[in-house]
Formats: sequence, C-alpha cells, structure tokens
Amino acid sequence: MSGKAEQSDFSGSSAELLYVDDSYLREFDATVVRTGPGYVLLNRTAFYPKSGGQSSDTGLLQQGTRQARVLKVLKRGRDIFHYVDGTMSEGLVRGIIDWDARFYNMRRHSAEHLLTGLFEMMDAGPKVYSDLEHLEFRPSEITEDDVRQVEAQFNEAVKADVHLKIYYAARRELEVGDDERKRSFLEKIPKNIERLRMVEIPGYSLTFCFGTHVRSTGEIGLLRELKLSRGKKGRRIVEFTLE
Ligand SMILES: [Zn+2]
Repeated sequence: MSGKAEQSDFSGSSAELLYVDDSYLREFDATVVRTGPGYVLLNRTAFYPKSGGQSSDTGLLQQGTRQARVLKVLKRGRDIFHYVDGTMSEGLVRGIIDWDARFYNMRRHSAEHLLTGLFEMMDAGPKVYSDLEHLEFRPSEITEDDVRQVEAQFNEAVKADVHLKIYYAARRELEVGDDERKRSFLEKIPKNIERLRMVEIPGYSLTFCFGTHVRSTGEIGLLRELKLSRGKKGRRIVEFTLE
C-alpha cells in the first residue's frame, strides 16, 4: 500500500497519501505510528500538508472517546507531521477533514491551474510564483485588456464544466516535439523524477502536480474579481477571488 504512495509522490513520503488518489475523501482510518510533543505521525493520511502555496488541511483525529483538533499539517523530510491540540496514543485513529476549508482550497487551486494555462496561452511571460490568491509573472507586458480577456475565457471554461484528467506519465513518454512551452515545462521537473502525476484541464492547461483538485471546472465557480497590479522589477501580479 505505502509503496504505491511513495511512487506517486515525487518527494517521497513515509505515509500513504490518500488525497493523491481521492481528493474527495473526507474521513479515513489510520494508525498512529509515532507521537511527539504536539504532533502525531500516521501510516496513511488524507490531510493535505502545506505545500506549493496551498495551505494545509485542518480537522479532527478521534481515538475512542478522545479527540484532538488537527491545527496544521507539515511535511518534514519524508514524514507528515499532524500538529494536534490533544494527546493521542499509538494505535488506530479516525481522521476527519474540515471539508468546507479543503473544498475551498481545491476550488482556488484548480482556478490557479486554469488561470496559469490561460495566461501561458497568451504568452504572458514566465510565471514565477502562484498561490491560492495570486499569480506573479516575471517582466511581462500583461495589460488590463489581457486580464479582461482571460477573465472572460475563465468564466467560459467554468460554464463549459470541463472535466479534469489526472493520470501518470513516465517522463520519457511525454512528447514535447518543438513545443517550447512544453520543453521548459519538462526542464523544470527535477531530473530524478521519472513518474509524473499529470493534471490536465483539456484545452486549457497541462502540468504535473500532487495537489488536490476539483473534478470539473464547473465546481471552481465564476471569478468575482481578477485584478492586475505592478510588482517590483517589471513584474505583473494578478490577484483572483472566486464567487
Ligand atoms: Zn495542482
């Protein structure tokens, strides 16, 4: 069981990562394999650890009549630390994710994929950073008109309710041909990673990612606001909020 998770998480994990195969899993059974001051380690977990601009899940751990709140989850080395406000013992435990917060994160993270794809298609210049609230591009000439165009395309994609495709691909199977964008995409992936988890919004975006995503763009919802501002050194910052 854990071997599968290790292969599917390029950074390696001592716990089986249940959210990788099912981002809609809200409750799960696991075993506490280690406890320490204020934290526990589990053999498997559906709690998403803070990573790549996506904040960590919160929720509950229940053990018989005892329960503790999971305040934050961090990956350190190969281990996933669940920081809790109570005491847990080694043995069986039930985990419950704060679903509203997680689903909101999934919507915003999927929006991040869609926006990234749309800006890439208009050659907005390399994206240097993004999270659940904004995207940042290196010296780039993105204009207000570009942003309004992306906003319209984004909302079209949401209305079209495009289903996301998630699949695994060996690096050598990815045909990039002469496509400069795909070539630079492949070059960004650490050399030791052979098996990639691809997240595709057909017609809009293709990238590798181990995060949690919605099933289709309809679940993301429409944009409430897409705002352009200028950062340091000619950077362009695009902030987004969802309805
Ligand atoms: Zn992702």
